[in-house]
Amino acid sequence: MFSCRSGAALPLRGAVFALALASGFGAAPLVAREMPEAGAAAAAKKPNVVILATGGTIAGAGADAANSATYTAAKVPVDKLIAAVPQVNTIANVRGEQVFQIASESFTDAQLVQLGKRVSQLLKQDDVDGVVVTHGTDTLEETAFFLDLVVKSDKPIVVVGSMRPGTAISADGALNLLDAVTVAASKEAIGQGVTVTMNDYIQCGRDVNKRTNIVPSAFYSQWGPLGMVVEGKTYFFRSLTKRHNMSSEFDIDQIDSLPLVGIVYGSGNMIPGVYDAELQAGAKAIVNAGTGNGSVPGYLVDKLKDIRSKGAIVIRSSRVPDGFVLRNAEQPDDKYDWVVAHDLNPAKAKILAAVALTKTSDTKELQRIFWEY
Ligand code: GLU
Repeated sequence: MFSCRSGAALPLRGAVFALALASGFGAAPLVAREMPEAGAAAAAKKPNVVILATGGTIAGAGADAANSATYTAAKVPVDKLIAAVPQVNTIANVRGEQVFQIASESFTDAQLVQLGKRVSQLLKQDDVDGVVVTHGTDTLEETAFFLDLVVKSDKPIVVVGSMRPGTAISADGALNLLDAVTVAASKEAIGQGVTVTMNDYIQCGRDVNKRTNIVPSAFYSQWGPLGMVVEGKTYFFRSLTKRHNMSSEFDIDQIDSLPLVGIVYGSGNMIPGVYDAELQAGAKAIVNAGTGNGSVPGYLVDKLKDIRSKGAIVIRSSRVPDGFVLRNAEQPDDKYDWVVAHDLNPAKAKILAAVALTKTSDTKELQRIFWEY
């Protein structure tokens, strides 16, 4: 198993993964146990990668191989995930930790903080070269951006999921996981920020969004992927220009909780009382996922001005997936003391607002942060 070469195994990866999961293959395949005798020296040369498992479809299981969309997420433990992709051991010394076993829509801020602290702790260790986080795809983009903002390390952090459970025909989790370990173990990924490996692409954790909810090509960034992984090798073509990780002013070691931030989705004929409910629930900021360029209906302008006068932050974002919200265009943000989310979608704007509010509630500072991250 250990000597399995990635080239020969490539066409079989999905099947191997599905079969391994279906047959309940493998108790924890600790790398040291699987290593050939002469392997100790080779192991010393390989990077050390820790896989932190949190659940999701990549750990999902369905009743039948034809079930690509009907299955239970967060079933398969991390040792079995690793056992199902033995090729990872040719790339790195890999070990796993089960942090959570949940579907990612159930992530709370407390879990986000806990995960961030664990990633940070591991990357401070000399014997850890990179971290992979396995994750449900629903909120993967939020977690990737959060880690990008708060983990002070240049070492690679890769967040990975799958669109099909390992039990399905044409499961995508095995290759995505192998690619994640490849990126986490690569020197090229150092300093690139948090990345996401889905469907052969290396996506930028800050930019990437889940765009469709069925097919493996679900993840997309309007600014394009950073690169690709092909047969165990990374190919980077772009870099993230925004502040992240080592250049970030935020540090998970100084964050123990996140302030509550709400999102209100824009549409025709909106219900003004929703904003009041969010404030009453304790929201310190409201991301207004407006139509078009973060538009606010005329009948809601006074409501948002009122929210701001009560001390909560108003952030204009857009429900339109691409483009970016222009300050002082659709609304006079300077006059109303509002903030614009720039190119961040509402979910990502919520993450940045929550992180930023741990340090400041000054709107000029918040706007600077939205320009810079
Ligand atoms: N809704 C589940 C989750 O986010 C499954 C989605 C997936 O992982 O693709 O964990």
